[in-house]
Amino acid sequence: MNSTNPWQRALLQLKTAAKQLELDPLLLARLSNPDKIIEVSLPIKLDTEEIKVFQGYRIQHNNIRGPYKGGLRYHQKVDMNEMKALAFLMTIKNAVIDVPFGGSKGGITVDPKTLSEKELEGLTKLFIQKISDMIGPDKDIPAPDVNTNPKIMGWVADEYSKIVGVHSPAIVTGKPLDKGGSEGRTEATGLGGVFCLLATLKKLGINPQGMTVAIQGFGNVGSFLAKFLQKEGFSIVALADSKGGIHIPDGIMDIDEIERCKKETGLLAGCYCVGSVCDLKNKKKLGGKNVSSDGVLELPVDIVIPAALENVITHKNAAKIKTRIILEMANGPTTMRADKILNRRKILVIPDVLANSGGVAVSFFEWYQNLHDKAWSKDKVFSKLKEKMEKATDLVFSTADKYKASLRKAAYIVALERLVNQRYEKA
Ligand code: NAD
Repeated sequence: MNSTNPWQRALLQLKTAAKQLELDPLLLARLSNPDKIIEVSLPIKLDTEEIKVFQGYRIQHNNIRGPYKGGLRYHQKVDMNEMKALAFLMTIKNAVIDVPFGGSKGGITVDPKTLSEKELEGLTKLFIQKISDMIGPDKDIPAPDVNTNPKIMGWVADEYSKIVGVHSPAIVTGKPLDKGGSEGRTEATGLGGVFCLLATLKKLGINPQGMTVAIQGFGNVGSFLAKFLQKEGFSIVALADSKGGIHIPDGIMDIDEIERCKKETGLLAGCYCVGSVCDLKNKKKLGGKNVSSDGVLELPVDIVIPAALENVITHKNAAKIKTRIILEMANGPTTMRADKILNRRKILVIPDVLANSGGVAVSFFEWYQNLHDKAWSKDKVFSKLKEKMEKATDLVFSTADKYKASLRKAAYIVALERLVNQRYEKA
C-alpha cells in the first residue's frame, strides 16, 4: 500500500471505520467505487493562435444523501487518482457537517497562471459544455477549490444557464454576490476552521489567547483563517505559500498589510518588513526571517495548519513536527504513515473532513438561498455556520470517546452512520 496514493489512503480509512461499524458490505462496495468517472479533453486556441489540449475530470463519488457536490481544481498536478480521493472525501465531509449532498470533485490539469484571463474563461466554458449533461442544481453542483475563485464560478453559472436556456444560479456555489453568491462564502472555509478549533480548545480546557500558529498556504483558506484567528487572540507567527514564507516569533501583526505586500511583490517571503508592522528599523527587533514552504510545518508553535495541498505531512517530517495540535484545513495533508506517527506522539490532529467543512456548509446555504430566492445577511450566515461547526465538532468528539478512536476515525464513523441512515437536517 502506497501511503501517499490519495485514493488508496481514502479506501483504507473507509475500511477501518467500516470494520468498526460492521458496515453492510454492499454499502462498503458502493463507497469503495465512485459512481461515475468523467474525463474530457479540452482543446482551446491560445492568444498566440497555438492549439493546446487540456484534460478535465469530474468524479461523482456517491449521491446517497443528495446531489453530488464538490469543488473544481485547476492545477498542473490534477489527475484521476487525486480527483477520486477528493470526491470520496466530499462524500464523507458532507455527511460529517450534515448537508444534504453526496460527494464529487473535478478539475483541469493546467497551471492557470500560464493562461490569460480570456484563455481561462474559454477553457472553463468548454469544460462546462462538455459536462453539462451530467451536472445540474439537483444532480451535481461544483464550487471553488485550489486556483479557482468566484469569477470562475460566475463563468460556470453563465455558461450552464446559456446551455439549458434557464437562469440557473444554483448550478454552482462560491459565485460573486451579483451572480447569486452568498454573503460569507468566500470567508466560510477559514472561519469554519476557526469555529472548529475554538470548540476543540474549549473541550480540552485550553485558553486560546496568545497561542502561536503557523500556517502553510496563504490563498483563500489560509488568508481568511489567519485574519479570523488573529481577531480571536491567536498569535500568527508564520505564514508560507508555494514560494516560501515568513516567520516572526513575536507574531505577524498586520495580515492585511502582508496580503497587500504579497499582491505587490508576488511573494510572501520578505513581507515581514512592510508598512507600519515591521519597518526596516525594527526588523532586527522583531527577528523576522524567511522560512521555506515546508519548513513552516516544523516550527515550534502551539498549532500547525496545513492549508495548501495534500501529502505535506509524511513519515519523513512527522517526527520533526513540534506542535500540540494540527488543524487540517487542506484536503488530505497527512499521509497514513504520518498519521500513525502523530498519533503515537500524542499530537492532536483535527481532520480535514471536519476542519474544512465550513466551505461546503455555506455552499449549502448558498444553494438553498438560490433555490428559495432568498438573500441572507452575513451575520445570519456566520451564525448558522458557527452552529453547524460546533455541532459537528461535538459529535466527532463524543464519537471518538465512545469508540476510543482518533478524531479522524470518529469523523468517518459519524459519516458512515449518516450514510446508513440517510439522515440530514434542514437549513
Ligand atoms: P488557493 O488556490 O486559494 O490557495 C492555495 C495556497 O496554497 C496558495 O497560497 C499557494 O501558494 C499555496 N501552495 C501551493 N503549493 C504549496 C506548497 N507546495 N507549499 C506551500 N504552499 C503552497 O486554494 P484554497 O481554496 O485556499 O485551498 C487550499 C486547500 O484547502 C486545498 O487543499 C483545498 O482543497 C482545501 N479546501 C478549500 C476550500 C475552499 O472553500 N476554497 C474548502 C475546503 C477545503
